[in-house]
Amino acid sequence: MAEMTFEEMLDIQRAFQSRMGDVGLDEQARVDRMSHLTLLAYSESCDMMAMLGYKTHHPFHKPQWGNALYEWVDQFKYMMAVAAVAGFTADEIERAFTDKSIAVEQRLDRDRQELVAQPVVVFDIDGVLCEFKDLSDRDITDGAFLDVTPDEMMCAFTHTVQAWGVKIVLVTSRKDYRWRRVASDTEIWLRNHGVACDRLVFAYDKAEAVSGFNVLCAVEDSAKHALAYAQAGIDTILIDPDRSGIHDAVTSCSRERVYGLVAHIVATKMEAQYAAE
Ligand SMILES: [Mg+2]
Repeated sequence: MAEMTFEEMLDIQRAFQSRMGDVGLDEQARVDRMSHLTLLAYSESCDMMAMLGYKTHHPFHKPQWGNALYEWVDQFKYMMAVAAVAGFTADEIERAFTDKSIAVEQRLDRDRQELVAQPVVVFDIDGVLCEFKDLSDRDITDGAFLDVTPDEMMCAFTHTVQAWGVKIVLVTSRKDYRWRRVASDTEIWLRNHGVACDRLVFAYDKAEAVSGFNVLCAVEDSAKHALAYAQAGIDTILIDPDRSGIHDAVTSCSRERVYGLVAHIVATKMEAQYAAE
């Protein structure tokens, strides 16, 4: 199939809009048409969201992938119609798209570099900052993560570590269902319990999620994640005194020993990093 350029697609849409009478409009008529078409695009976006099952009261809705492409094209065509009525040219759109892409990429790079350049201690949430609550997928309702019991000492400890000049990255494998409030409830809980947090990450592969950061150590209660961190070369404190010997880089210990172990690792590594500078 011959490739179609963006300009050719816009031409097709422009021709259609002219058949619809969207030519030679005065300013008010143009504003009215653009408003109407934008609302239609919004309505198509709602169809897309329904298809993806974005509803808190339908938590187990299965996305209907079969229609996704055509739903997306419906939105795209309405946005092209808005562009045609507004009189945007393909060149203008391409330039604005490039400008916006550069801007968001620069922001992301800046954001990443801010943390990459800093020493980081990684904390797990469930079983470390709060009591582990065994929730099956079906049990994860809105608010389920708002009332988990904090470990006050560990929550306060995040501030101590931050005061040493270390960034705090919280990495959790909680399932960040978009149709539930897992992410927002987690953020609210962290604020309510005064946890220091420079970055909150939801990831199944925790070691991969922090690769690229200058991680001094990670604090975990899960042997599985501790082993993954250790295999990625990250010193890990595992709050489970019964799981010693799983890896040279994993120190298994009681909750009470976490402070001393983290303090020792941070002091030793930061001293070495300063000496190397
Ligand atoms: Mg955990």
